[in-house]
Amino acid sequence: MMRQYELVERVARYNPHTDEQLLNRAYVYAMKAHGSQTRASGDPYFSHPLEVAAILTTLRLDDATIVAALLHDTIEDTDATREEIDRLFGPEIGALVDGLTKIKKLDLVSKRAAQAENLRKLLLAIADDVRVLLVKLADRLHNMRTLEYVPVDKRTRIAEETLDIYAPLAGGMGIHWMREELEDLSFQTLQPEAYRVISMQLAERREESAKVISEIAIALREKIGAAGITAEISGREKRPYSVWSKMERKAVSFEQLSDIYGFRVIVENIADCYRTIGIVHTTWSMVPGRFKDYISTPKQNDYRSIHTTVLGPGHQRVELQVRTREMHDIAEYGIAAHVIYKEGVPKVANGDARKGKLSAIDSNAYRWLRQLVEMLAEGDTPEEFLEHTKLQLFQDQVFCFTPKGRVISLPRGANAIDFAYAVHTDVGNNAIGCKINGRLEPLISQLNNGDEVDVLTAKNQVPPAAWESLVMTGKARQSIRRAARAQIRTQYAGLGRKMLERAFARIPRAYSDEKLAAVLARLGQSNVDDALSAVGRGEIPASDVIKAVYPDHRDERARDKTSSGDAGRGEEGWFGLRRAMGLKFRWPGRSSRGSKATGGKGEAGSDAIPIRGLHGDLPVQFAPKGGAVPGDRIVGIMMPGEAITIYPIQSPELKQFDDQPERWLDVRWAIDADNPERFPAVIAVRALNEPGSLAGIAQIIGEQDANIDTVIMTMRAPDFTEMEIAVEVWDLKHLNRIMALLKSAAVVNAVWRVNG
Ligand code: MN
Repeated sequence: MMRQYELVERVARYNPHTDEQLLNRAYVYAMKAHGSQTRASGDPYFSHPLEVAAILTTLRLDDATIVAALLHDTIEDTDATREEIDRLFGPEIGALVDGLTKIKKLDLVSKRAAQAENLRKLLLAIADDVRVLLVKLADRLHNMRTLEYVPVDKRTRIAEETLDIYAPLAGGMGIHWMREELEDLSFQTLQPEAYRVISMQLAERREESAKVISEIAIALREKIGAAGITAEISGREKRPYSVWSKMERKAVSFEQLSDIYGFRVIVENIADCYRTIGIVHTTWSMVPGRFKDYISTPKQNDYRSIHTTVLGPGHQRVELQVRTREMHDIAEYGIAAHVIYKEGVPKVANGDARKGKLSAIDSNAYRWLRQLVEMLAEGDTPEEFLEHTKLQLFQDQVFCFTPKGRVISLPRGANAIDFAYAVHTDVGNNAIGCKINGRLEPLISQLNNGDEVDVLTAKNQVPPAAWESLVMTGKARQSIRRAARAQIRTQYAGLGRKMLERAFARIPRAYSDEKLAAVLARLGQSNVDDALSAVGRGEIPASDVIKAVYPDHRDERARDKTSSGDAGRGEEGWFGLRRAMGLKFRWPGRSSRGSKATGGKGEAGSDAIPIRGLHGDLPVQFAPKGGAVPGDRIVGIMMPGEAITIYPIQSPELKQFDDQPERWLDVRWAIDADNPERFPAVIAVRALNEPGSLAGIAQIIGEQDANIDTVIMTMRAPDFTEMEIAVEVWDLKHLNRIMALLKSAAVVNAVWRVNG
């Protein structure tokens, strides 16, 4: 295990004004905090944070990052707290360690390819300081290096995650060697046999090709040197993972790949890069489509080099990367190299200025890295990059977890209902509540980054229609609509069955689903449920079903059909149809319609379809202009694709359905005593145009325990005002009492019910 002084020395080598005291304190603190904990390998646990810190010294990172690396597992795995770390090491380091603790949640996440992108984003969203990502990468690298001690099943998951997320992240951050090492370690774990074979072949090949490589190198050096360019030329080792993924991706054989020799040419300046390429291209023939100039157009992670492939001296394919030393360091070390080249190495430490100087460098460097991370996150093409640079990182998204650690990405402002539907449509439809971070919260709670959401469900729930306007995501909205439609369909099927039972009883026969099933084809239906809901919606008259089941059955239906076909105007036809449907409905007579008469005392027959309110077993709505209240004699009108509309039988609105008798339904109220619903009605009031008259009217209605929904002024004369007041009342008695009280008020001149 590395000694305390060794770590400090390593840091001091690249950062002459490191705060040695701080490093020492962190070393001791972490060592004590982890105490006797051990790793899977049997090593003391503290060896892990220490190695992570050591990896970061190779990236030449600042004190805060090194300290955060030493402390990175303390909050999660020991008694240490954020407060304590803030107090002992300052809030900057506290925040870094906190970020790492949050990210640790990700280690629990099960991964599928589709998740990788989200996870990568989440990682970036949580790590609002890129140094957190650097520590995380070093942490992962050390864990990968010591993966052999971890149980096999866990190993696979960690390796997949590394390959999906951390290796690309390292590459994106410009730390090339780390990317390669992470890839190879993952590959070795996931495909041990392929790794073994490829490594073996590479080793064999290395010996064979040593001669070819030195020949090419000599030829290159000669040509380039002749032009007076100083160049460092090295053959590039092929990495097992990159060979394997090329074989997979391009479907080429190992032999094809191994015929390619890679060289890196490091020159002094950019001009020499282009001169070198010129020499190479005029000496050997270029392989078309392989020339890439990442100097004039750097990659998003600031990678710069010129790539080309030529047919070398022995007609082998020779891949060349030509770059300056600075470009090379940036390609290898990413952030650290950037600090050195963009800002210059800070010179001499001198007291107070020291700290300011360092943090200025850091913030510039990290701003750069931050930008880079954004590019990485937002997309791969420069066009996309330009599009997205102006947006703040993930401003418009939140990332939440399921209890099992799946990441759900949602638009900002989304709530737990959206979350539930994003998890699964059934979870959304059956949601009855939720726990957010372990606490019961309303489903409409807006979610924040990193929230863990546990949706509580119950079977056979139907999402409330009101949810449709509360959700943010299209998926949730569509699912809620679909569920509502499915429910209405079920309700219509229930209605259809009732209608058929009555129609059959009338002839008289017993209805059964089997009988309906036998004639589905004739009715043009594919299943019983569809057929029932078609009957319920009025698309198939019950008489057609009877005719299909009993082709020989003859009764007044024939005549009914004729008369209802006669534009349905005759009340005869209407009655006939009602009778055929087995519904005893007594039409109050055209003369009484539209009058204010109540239309007789007779209750609708007991075999009329019971209406149990808005939340009963049938899809119901009340007349849009004037409503309907229990006690009103009512009729139902089937509205294709919608709920049945209930009208008071006197409503003049019904006239519009006169020529569609097939849409009329015989219905009756069946409101339970404990039904908490109130029902809509509209009353018109003519009142004196006096100050306070409206208030007086509102008071009367309010005192009677009715709700006022809306008030519309319909006429305003100098002396009188007429208004229509939409109210919600318990029943007709309640409504009548209110109207009577209003009439008796001094300011009120007249009161009548609208359309009811
Ligand atoms: Mn760790």
